Amino acid sequence: MTYDCEVAVVGAGMFGAAAGKHLSRAGADVVIIGPAEPRAGDPVSQHSFGAHFDEARITRRLGWDPVWEMTDARSQERYRDIENESGISFFHECGSLVLMANSIAHRTNAILDQCAAAGIAVDQLSEEDLRGQFPDLGLPPMEGGVMGLLEREQAGYLNPRRLVSAQLTLATAAGARLVRGTATGVERVPGGWLLRTDGAGCPPRIRAERVLVATGAFTNVNNVLPVSHQLDLRAFTEPNLLFEVHPEQLDRLRMLPSVVTVDPADTGDANTSLYLLPPIRYPDGKWYMRCGPGMQPLVEELRTVEEMVSWYSNQKITARQMAFLTTMTHLMVPNLKPVSVREACCIIEKTPSRYPYIGHVDEDFAVVVGGNGHGARGSDEIGRLASTIVLGEPWDCPIPHDVFAPLTASPAVDERGERPDFLKPPFGLC
Ligand SMILES: Cc1cc2nc3c(=O)[nH]c(=O)nc-3n(C[C@H](O)[C@H](O)[C@H](O)COP(=O)(O)OP(=O)(O)OC[C@H]3O[C@@H](n4cnc5c(N)ncnc54)[C@H](O)[C@@H]3O)c2cc1C
Repeated sequence: MTYDCEVAVVGAGMFGAAAGKHLSRAGADVVIIGPAEPRAGDPVSQHSFGAHFDEARITRRLGWDPVWEMTDARSQERYRDIENESGISFFHECGSLVLMANSIAHRTNAILDQCAAAGIAVDQLSEEDLRGQFPDLGLPPMEGGVMGLLEREQAGYLNPRRLVSAQLTLATAAGARLVRGTATGVERVPGGWLLRTDGAGCPPRIRAERVLVATGAFTNVNNVLPVSHQLDLRAFTEPNLLFEVHPEQLDRLRMLPSVVTVDPADTGDANTSLYLLPPIRYPDGKWYMRCGPGMQPLVEELRTVEEMVSWYSNQKITARQMAFLTTMTHLMVPNLKPVSVREACCIIEKTPSRYPYIGHVDEDFAVVVGGNGHGARGSDEIGRLASTIVLGEPWDCPIPHDVFAPLTASPAVDERGERPDFLKPPFGLC
């Protein structure tokens, strides 16, 4: 049996689900193909990893990058509509706090200027203000002291599982067919593309006039790109620690906003950038505070599919990552007395442009990949832009389309024989 459709969206994650919704709402006949979330104990493969299988992703509009600010703000404006239309809530408006070192006042000012231009309300909090408003929050040692930037409204965290579910609900309500399986190969055929697929209850082939690939970190290694197409996309370890919160501390700690710290140097082993989520209820019924690093040397590149699968399936962070995240969490929440501590290993993918790729790599074959570690919050707009590209509609975005142009793989080594490092700091806010 073969399914025929106008557009096949490969990947039912954060970008694919959003794109599928916008495509079907625009009237296209859409099939979205992607596996359901693996159950605990299922073997991990390059097709089953998803960065959305979690309970929280920080969301805010504040930043110093106009491109991310645009995708984040446009998406955030639609969160409540998505919740209301799908009947699935996912957005927790607990506020977002960014702690900046006073020695990088130029960066703080750039953020404030951008917020003012975009009409984003931000409170500037001195160390004294921070201690007064968030008595449970410790302040990390930062050059010249700490300045807090607090976005109280339209900021906090979102539940990525539930957002994807909401988008898929809206996509199917608009006529999209959701196929639970994986694409395992693709070839050009007259009038479009043929996808080979695998999965119980999934047609063995899908013939589509156009294809949009939205398969995240494993895109280069999961056989979903036409032969000889490889994207400049690199995968990195994203180590997290989850601190189980004691019930007696829950009410107080739940008052915290999501927190990001920005290290002045943004480089070197002494870099202390990190993110911290307030207590969040996980599927095991327990409440955890989750912390992870900014982009640092201890965030290591995963160079092969074997390294990626092994990092994700072992769920074991390195001793160095463990030491850093433990020390920093105790600095940030000095009174935290965790009942237990759990490790979690995820993967983020980076592009040299630092922006998602939204565009064609072949005739009628487009991609939307490259969340760069912060694609969740802007995913609705990123998916919408991908849908306009696939349908050939005019580009209705203030950021030029070139900014999102997919780049094909760069040479493994440069003219000096060194691996090109497109990941030089500063990395911006995670
Ligand atoms: C630990 C961690 C913390 C993060 N924190 C934040 C944050 O605070 N704020 C924020 O905005 N972002 C954050 N991000 C980033 C955000 O989660 C990602 O940018 C976003 O999920 C990327 O969406 P995507 O659709 O490209 O990929 P994914 O969400 O990973 O979706 C890809 C989908 O493709 C499917 N797939 C793969 N291969 C195939 C195949 N062959 N056939 C069919 N389907 C396939 C997968 O199963 C998956 O469902 C974080 C990421 C991680 C890992």
